[in-house]
Order: sequence, then structure tokens, then C-alpha cells
Amino acid sequence: MERYQDSQLYRIRHSAAHVMAQAVLEKFPEAKIAIGPPIEDGFYYDFDLPRPLTEDDLREIEARMKEIIREGHEFVRKVVSAEEARRIFADQPYKLELIEGLEKGGTDEHGEKIEGPVEISTYTHDTFEDLCRGPHVPNTREINPDALSITFKPPAGAYWRGDEKREMLTRIYGTAWETPEQLQEYLELLEEAKRRDHRVIGPALGLFTFDPLVGKGLPLWKPNGAVLRDLLERFLREVQIERGYQPVITPHIARVALYERSGHYPYYKDSQYAPFEVEGDLYMLKPMNCPHHIHIYKDDLHSYRDLPIRLAEFGTVYRYEKSGELHGLTRVRGFTQDDAHIFCTPEQLEDEFLGVVDLVEFILNGLGLSDYRARIGVRDPESDKYVGSDEVWEQATQAIIRAADKRGLEYTVEEGEAAFYGPKLDFIIRDALKREWQVSTVQVDYNLPERFELEYIGADNDRHRPIMIHRALYGSMERFVAVLVEHYAGAFPAWLAPIQVVLIPIADRHIEYAEQIAAQLREKGLRVQVDASSNRMGAKIRQATQQKVPWMLIMGDRDVAAGAVSVRLRGGEDLGAMPVANFLELALRIVESKALELS
Ligand SMILES: [Zn+2]
Ligand SMILES: [Zn+2]
Repeated sequence: MERYQDSQLYRIRHSAAHVMAQAVLEKFPEAKIAIGPPIEDGFYYDFDLPRPLTEDDLREIEARMKEIIREGHEFVRKVVSAEEARRIFADQPYKLELIEGLEKGGTDEHGEKIEGPVEISTYTHDTFEDLCRGPHVPNTREINPDALSITFKPPAGAYWRGDEKREMLTRIYGTAWETPEQLQEYLELLEEAKRRDHRVIGPALGLFTFDPLVGKGLPLWKPNGAVLRDLLERFLREVQIERGYQPVITPHIARVALYERSGHYPYYKDSQYAPFEVEGDLYMLKPMNCPHHIHIYKDDLHSYRDLPIRLAEFGTVYRYEKSGELHGLTRVRGFTQDDAHIFCTPEQLEDEFLGVVDLVEFILNGLGLSDYRARIGVRDPESDKYVGSDEVWEQATQAIIRAADKRGLEYTVEEGEAAFYGPKLDFIIRDALKREWQVSTVQVDYNLPERFELEYIGADNDRHRPIMIHRALYGSMERFVAVLVEHYAGAFPAWLAPIQVVLIPIADRHIEYAEQIAAQLREKGLRVQVDASSNRMGAKIRQATQQKVPWMLIMGDRDVAAGAVSVRLRGGEDLGAMPVANFLELALRIVESKALELS
């Protein structure tokens, strides 16, 4: 498969970003320009502008971009010395800073780290010259002006270099495709994504909320959301018990010394909260559950007969995310992992690994997320952020590849995607809109057992070192719920719906009958609500439909007389009147089998 960075689309988008900068500079000659890279699905450029932009400004900029493109300008590359570059961009302070980086090592125009010094080049088209390493299309004519669009939402603010101590810039997003049809398809997808946005649907369904006084990135789970999370946890907990996992519970803070021992401390220093002092000793919020589970293992002496030991916890961890990077439930500052650590002998490793993969596939398929791919993350050979010897890394990597092959998984191998203590196998699901989300992860680790000197007594009566597998299937409960909400657009399978049945009495005289039936359904374990409001029937149905409640039971005089209910599905299908017992049988069959459909 061609890498995106090598594709024509990438060159088109990068070139469109330059054209955007030209159009903006023509309109605001005093503007300062920062960086303008292609991104997934489009491109942006960051500007320091004299005033905020209006929608009319954006329209004007887009129209001018199309004009420039149609004029057919060549992109010309020129290699320059740092000295020359400084002359060219003398009144562009952000470029001057970038030039310094190119000279000494720093950040390139795509915001990526570079080891300096590197060759400095510029690209010029028409009147615009940019500090740039390319690549570009040879001529603006290769950009299809009818397949290009600026994003007409209010331009986003972005800090220069993502650093909130630096200048706040205006980021204008655009997208460019090869054909107008592709652009159309993409814009429709964006619309659909907006309709499914968990940040809108979640609060509307009463799943969660955020409050500024509580704090950014700290979700509050409301009853419906807590029910959903509890169902997901119970689903996994039950299967884990069947598969020999044991539950553990550990605290939310620990001594810094623990993470120094594990090696997490320096590695995660940018994503941790500052340590705090308790009785003269330093503590911190838990960023990881692994060292706690390790100490539970260490508390007992283990024989090879006890292994494998599988310890599982829904463990809440805290990671620092910059406020600009927080995003609904997908990027938060505290989240709960469905974490587990398996301690096993080298002979057991492959079977244990395969067992976890089987569990991952069982859970994902069970939740209707059966479109997924696997990725094996290995070390970046250039980087020194990993702990452990080459030999154990090689062993662990080979173990994962062997297991994946044996399972018949289709996978890619990607450098630099490993954890700092070992290689891993990630599962990346595609949701209903074909967007990719990394959820499950399985990691093989020879290093932490070494650092903590874990042992078991072998059949030979000698001490041996176990191997650890770290695994999470949902990953983060917060993020996973966000994925489910967007995948199902809030219309969860009946077994996961926080409210499964709404009973709708047509008039006040039917309320008592509705309450009776509600009690019957609750007794069978269904989650039920009676809409006893004074609203008209139509409004009650609309309300339940918006709440994505799977079943609505409507009851009037005829239903009461017959001991029946009129059943309606959230999609609008009318199943007609049926005896209460028949509805119960239907609903329980669907809920208990965890069916994905309602009929
Ligand atoms: Zn460029
Ligand atoms: Zn772990």
C-alpha cells in the first residue's frame, strides 16, 4: 500500500496549503505565516492575523484560491543557505524560528522533530514563496479547484508549536480531493459524523456531562451513562471469570518511587501530574496500573503450577493532556482502563497470547464492531526510549508474530508503535463511517518482570522469571463509550440501551395499567420507564424515539381491555398489538442473546 506521504493527494493538499497562504497574504499583507501541513483528509495553515476572520473572509479566500489554481502556476524548488533563507523571510518571525531549527535541529514546517542541520529549501509559485521541503505538484493546475473547499466553521485557535505560553494563531482548515465527487462524498461523511458526534449525542441521551467548576477533561457520568458502562464492564467481567481471570483492586495514588522502579516515571514525565508530598515522601496520581498488579503478584511465592496468573482491574488512571487536546470522552484527564496483567512461563506465552486475542475478538464481535484490523507495534530502531536488551525485544516480537500467524490474523508491522517495555499487538476497529479507532492492545513484556525481580519456582526447584502480558480490550472505558455512541449514533443494541422500554399511556386513565406492566417487565430485569407526562401521544413517541429507546409500548382502552400492548420500534416500525407475555418473550430473547438487531 502506498504511504499517504507519497501519494498525489498529499502533494495536492500540501500545494493547496501554499495557495491558501498566498490568498491570505494578499488579503492581509501584514499577516505572519506559521506552518501549513497536509493532514488526514485535508490541510491547514496557521496565521497570525490582524483581526478575527468572518465567514465572508473565508469565502473570499476560497474564491481567490480557486482563481490562483486556475491560473496554472508552477511550483519551483530552490535550495538556499540559512543566510539566504533569513533574508527571504526577514519579516516572517515564525519562519525565522523554523530556519533556526533547520540549522540546529528542531521542528520542521510540518511540526515534526528533525535532527539538524538539514538542507534548507523553498518552494515558490506565483507571488508566494514558502520555507518548505516539499513535495509539491509541479503546477497548481494539478489541484482540482472544484474538488477543494475551505472548512466554513469558525477558524480554530492554535498555539504556535502547540505551546500555550506562545502566540495564539488562527488555523484555517481546508480539504482537497482529486474529483468533485470525492469532495462531495467527504463533505457528506463530515455531516454524518457531526450527527453522530458523541459530544452532542452523549449529553442528549443523558450519558455524561462536563462542568467547568469540576474541571476540564473530567467527565461526570450520569445515570444512563453509568448504566451503559456497568453493562460493558459486566459483559467483560463475566467472560473474564470464565477464562480464569481474577479481580484485583488498587488505589489511585502511589509513591513516585514505585514508578521510578517501573521505569514509567521518566518515560511519562510529560503526561503526568506533578508529584505531591505526603509526610515527607513524594506521591503521584496513578498513570498506570501495571506496577500495582506486579506487587500483588510479588506478595506471594509462586510455583510454576500456579501460573498463569491473570489479574484484572477496571483501573482508573490520570494523565495530563493539554487543554487544547481535550476532546469529549476521547481525550480526557482521568479514565478507566479495563486493564489486566498475565504472569506466565515462557512455555505458556504463546497460548496465553492467543487466549487474549480470542477474547478481544469475542468482545469486539459481540459488540457489533466486527470490522477491525491488527497492527504489530515494534521498536523504532533509531530511538533510545525503550528499556531492555535487544535479545528480549527480539524474543517478544517473534512471540507476537508467531501467535498472530497462528491465529491467521491479518496485520501490519509498524516501527515506533511499541510500548517502552515491549512490542504489542493493537486492534484498530472501523466504525459505521469507516473511521479508524485503536481500542484493544496486547503487549508482551520481559522487562518489568526483570526490573521488579519477579520469580516463580520451576519444576526443577530453581527460581525463574515469569513473562508479563499487559492487555486492555476496551482500552479506556471513556473512549470506548465514545466510539460506541458514534458507531451506533446512540441507538445501541437493546441489551446495552440504558432504557430499553418506554411505556406510553394514551390518557391518564391508562397510567395505572402502564405501571402494572412496567413492574412486570422490571421484575424480568428490563430497564423500563413510564411516560406519565401530560404530553400528547405523538410527543411522547417523538421523545422516546429521540432518546433511541428500542421499544415503545403504547396503551389505550383497547389494549387495557385485551391485556395487550401496541409495540413500536425506535426506527418507526409498528409491530401492532400483542399480549404482554408475547412482548416479554420477544424482548427477553433479544436482550439475553445480546442480539444486535431489534427483530
Ligand atoms: Zn510547504
Ligand atoms: Zn500494564
